[in-house]
Amino acid sequence: MSEAALYVVATPIGNLQDMTLRAVEVLQSVSLIAAEDTRHSARLLSHFNINTRQLSVHEHNERQRSEMIVQQLAAGNSVALISDAGTPLISDPGYILVGIVREAGYRVVPLPGCAAFVTALSAAGLASDRFSFEGFPPAKKGARLEQYRSLADESRTLIFYESPHRVLDSLRDMAQAFGGDRKVAVARELTKTFETIRSGSLDELLVWMEADHNQQKGEFVLLVEAAPRRKEESLGAEQLRILSLLTEELPVSQAAALAAKITGIKKKVLYQAALEINKG
Ligand code: SAM
Repeated sequence: MSEAALYVVATPIGNLQDMTLRAVEVLQSVSLIAAEDTRHSARLLSHFNINTRQLSVHEHNERQRSEMIVQQLAAGNSVALISDAGTPLISDPGYILVGIVREAGYRVVPLPGCAAFVTALSAAGLASDRFSFEGFPPAKKGARLEQYRSLADESRTLIFYESPHRVLDSLRDMAQAFGGDRKVAVARELTKTFETIRSGSLDELLVWMEADHNQQKGEFVLLVEAAPRRKEESLGAEQLRILSLLTEELPVSQAAALAAKITGIKKKVLYQAALEINKG
């Protein structure tokens, strides 16, 4: 390696065979590996005979450690960043570090590999031309439901990460926000022994998961089909909710104008709907 650089290295999300040859080579040759959890990463590194020194970089010390890493780069030493699994920065630390290193004028070199959401999308059977990766939904029920409701009319496939403690509640909230008929895919324990990729309506998958406790264990990616296309004239639940709230506070014409700005729907359509709401 000539010029000192920060290598952002993806690692497996379960199956060690998914480690790339380039990842092994780079992790062996850098001076320092910045890892989210050094004890966790020690297992991966020893499996591939990587003896490089590790430095812990997690959400609580990232800024301070970034300065140390910039000093290493200034001294001509390359550094690699890894997370516990998959691609760093994807629902994982690294965003601050990469920003600081780029700002300081050093090269950042990405090494592609696993990311759970891409792996799930590649096998879920849902539209993959346009999608929105939403990371982890809020842990608290109220905030989670509100977020799902705000996404109810989304025209792209939605992708979430979810913890085993919350997966069932999260699917229940989705059924409430998106309707039980909406198609979803649950991708569990990808690349591992109990890998399960199941798709169906939210109602169907809830019955299946409630009946089999084992299906609530492990790591999860939840994928939700895009909202069905609506005729331009009919409003979705979320759009109606926004319009109703505005109609409570504002004259009909103003409420329709503001709702048009928020939802992108024609003001004329919203104006008619607001009149109906007021009658109502
Ligand atoms: N950086 C990782 C990536 O590139 O996907 C994500 C890290 S995030 C802290 C961990 C979450 O990713 C898990 O809670 C789960 O939602 C998802 N995940 C990671 N590995 C997975 C796997 N093997 N199967 C299903 N989901 C997985």
